[in-house]
Amino acid sequence: MIPPIAGRFVAGETVPEALEHTRETNERGIGVILNLLGEHYHERDPADADAETYCRLLADMAGTDLQACLSVKPSQLGLDVSEDVFRENLARVVEAADEHGRFVWIDMEDHTTTDATLDAFEHHAREHGDVGVCVQANLKRTAADVDRLADLPGKVRLVKGAYDPPADLAYEDRERVDEAYRDLLERMFVEFDDGIAVGSHDPAMIAHARDLHAEYGTPYEIQMLMGVREDSQERLATDHEVWQYAPYGDKWFAYFYRRVLERKENARFAIRAIVN
Ligand SMILES: Cc1cc2nc3c(=O)[nH]c(=O)nc-3n(C[C@H](O)[C@H](O)[C@H](O)COP(=O)(O)OP(=O)(O)OC[C@H]3O[C@@H](n4cnc5c(N)ncnc54)[C@H](O)[C@@H]3O)c2cc1C
Repeated sequence: MIPPIAGRFVAGETVPEALEHTRETNERGIGVILNLLGEHYHERDPADADAETYCRLLADMAGTDLQACLSVKPSQLGLDVSEDVFRENLARVVEAADEHGRFVWIDMEDHTTTDATLDAFEHHAREHGDVGVCVQANLKRTAADVDRLADLPGKVRLVKGAYDPPADLAYEDRERVDEAYRDLLERMFVEFDDGIAVGSHDPAMIAHARDLHAEYGTPYEIQMLMGVREDSQERLATDHEVWQYAPYGDKWFAYFYRRVLERKENARFAIRAIVN
């Protein structure tokens, strides 16, 4: 059982808990992107098992009116084992999602995985359309990647980037990453007909997306993490399409620990909860 302090960021250990969170979040006008926690498998078995769990989750959601989709990590589906294993497992999940009319997002991990992730996305975008991929504003290559993605069906989520790439490949200071995010967002609003997801909690980036929408008319959605700026999620959902990325599963501790380390306010929240 997940302790209440971790329950702010994680939608439960089990599928029923994750679906209950989805139902409650949908009632607040927010869609849910479900992610089974798991990454960096170095053997095939756990990667196959997670692909199977995603397929069962899709079957469990069939016939419900839940506004929900999936987000998967390449290394969870076997990219650290081999590109073939990743592609096979991704194909299983995307085909099951297609059968059930659900959307699949592919998260972006560290810079060594970008090509394999974009290639797999391109393959499925051309075949099914109902897939999306994440790109990272802190990587210098992303402007060229956005140009490549503009010609494909599917959606693209722009984030600032959660990994630490080598200095020659990335922008490092926060202001430069923010500037890159703004430029890339504008490029997407100009080049894409639709399918833009603003994956950020930063009010300045969201305001920029709103301005770009007013200028270019391209539709967009906003995506935020469960437990982060929940009040804004609800407020924005009154006049935007908002999706919440909600991780679940028994590997919750590492994810929770990352969220706590990443912000002083989260650490204060955790300490307060423990003391209370
Ligand atoms: C839906 C979604 C999917 C993502 N997928 C990926 C992915 O596939 N690959 C990847 O590399 N990265 C991913 N990220 C993470 C992303 O790269 C950033 O690390 C993260 O979103 C923080 O950047 P920010 O744009 O929110 O802005 P920041 O400048 O970091 O934060 C802006 C403001 O948001 C608030 N805030 C931000 N984060 C937190 C937090 N954890 N706790 C409390 N307040 C916070 C604070 O008020 C802060 O001042 C994803 C993020 C989201 C929202």
